[in-house]
Amino acid sequence: MRAVDLIRRKRDGGELESRDIEALIRGYTGSEDSAPSIGDDQMAAFCMAVYFRGLTDAETSALVQAMLRSGDVLDLSSIPGRKVDKHSTGGVGDKISLCLAPLVAACGVPVPMISGRGLGHTGGTLDKLAAIPGFSTNLSVEAFRNTVEVHRLSFIGQTERLAPADKRLYALRDVTATVESIPLIAASIMSKKLAEGIDALVLDVKVGSGAFMKTEAEARTLAEALTRTGLEARKPTRALLSNMDQVLGRAVGNANETWEAIEVLQGGGPNDVRELTLELGAEMLVLGGVAGDLPGARARLESALEDGSGFETFSRVVHAQGGEVSALVARSKLPFAPDESVLAFQRSGYVASVDVEAVGLAAMRLGAGRTRQNDPVDLGVGLLMQATVGDYVQAGDPLAVIRHRSGRGVLSAERTLLDAFLLAEEAPPSMPLILGRLGGGAVGRKGTTDA
Ligand code: URA
Repeated sequence: MRAVDLIRRKRDGGELESRDIEALIRGYTGSEDSAPSIGDDQMAAFCMAVYFRGLTDAETSALVQAMLRSGDVLDLSSIPGRKVDKHSTGGVGDKISLCLAPLVAACGVPVPMISGRGLGHTGGTLDKLAAIPGFSTNLSVEAFRNTVEVHRLSFIGQTERLAPADKRLYALRDVTATVESIPLIAASIMSKKLAEGIDALVLDVKVGSGAFMKTEAEARTLAEALTRTGLEARKPTRALLSNMDQVLGRAVGNANETWEAIEVLQGGGPNDVRELTLELGAEMLVLGGVAGDLPGARARLESALEDGSGFETFSRVVHAQGGEVSALVARSKLPFAPDESVLAFQRSGYVASVDVEAVGLAAMRLGAGRTRQNDPVDLGVGLLMQATVGDYVQAGDPLAVIRHRSGRGVLSAERTLLDAFLLAEEAPPSMPLILGRLGGGAVGRKGTTDA
């Protein structure tokens, strides 16, 4: 079958066979014995057809498998224990991986964490880790495997050989307005995660103004697609739907967020960051087989915060990956930008809502984020939010502390932040941090879910 016929079939609402999807991806990436036969033009048309027509569950799973097979799958079977990773669909102020992964590792579950860089208004774990002087996420697969074996944790970036189809497809979707398609997002995320050689996965699917998925219904559909494809690949997969209608914690921007994550690991930090860390961590300990239920798992994680073993694990991994451990206790060693100003509210009222995406964009204007995958970022700039949804504020109260470099982007960031906060006379209803849970803890005969 020619590519044009497959594109036409999808365009007209038909269903493709697994072998058709495999042929499209193989044709796009090429293989050891054949050069690519499908170019960006045809693949862009296919993505647009999927954007409008969607994919069935079977097609989505076939796409995940085809993208997964475009590269290598890591073999971590020599490392004892069930390897569990966490993936977030991206938010503002989301530094959870930095505190979660060491805590879970300290409780006995190996965490091979392969992370991405920030893009657009959302941040990325690799940029936050880059704020620790010397820390390298550019390890060979062998060094990564060894570090997970010795410390039960290692952080690296996406390698060229893991799901390379996704790398090209994601860049293509980015410039063809086809990112916002649930089956394409699900295939993108799951092909990368399944290539990591994990035994189980926990997903943090963000919902709200700072997330890809703005409504709970969309987020639930994405979470269902993600957990279903995980279970079909025989990897127990759980998803939490978590609130992104307010910034997570107070810190936005790389060094800022790294420091806040360190505070959480030391037993402090904002409540929501600690709480989400414990909720996701509990799911990981249960999937990792070191706790029988969520309350028991949570109690173990709380002890690892209190007795400092999570922080100790993080320190060992930072040392193993070339980072300066003293930066974890001396804030001045992180590369903060030198200038600071305080933005104040111009009137009084309850914070009724925050446009969280706009907060992320304000941080980008200071230089904290990137619009293209390879743009440089300024690790030292960012925001420390001083108010959140539900707070009562008076005119003149601080809205955010802005850390900047010689005023770059400050005026634009200030305007964006003031517009992002909606004040009202009435207090808004309180918002839960966790909106739902789904997925299966075990692989049932039909990959059942226990939402
Ligand atoms: N994150 C991904 O990894 N892929 C997408 O398609 C969207 C978000």
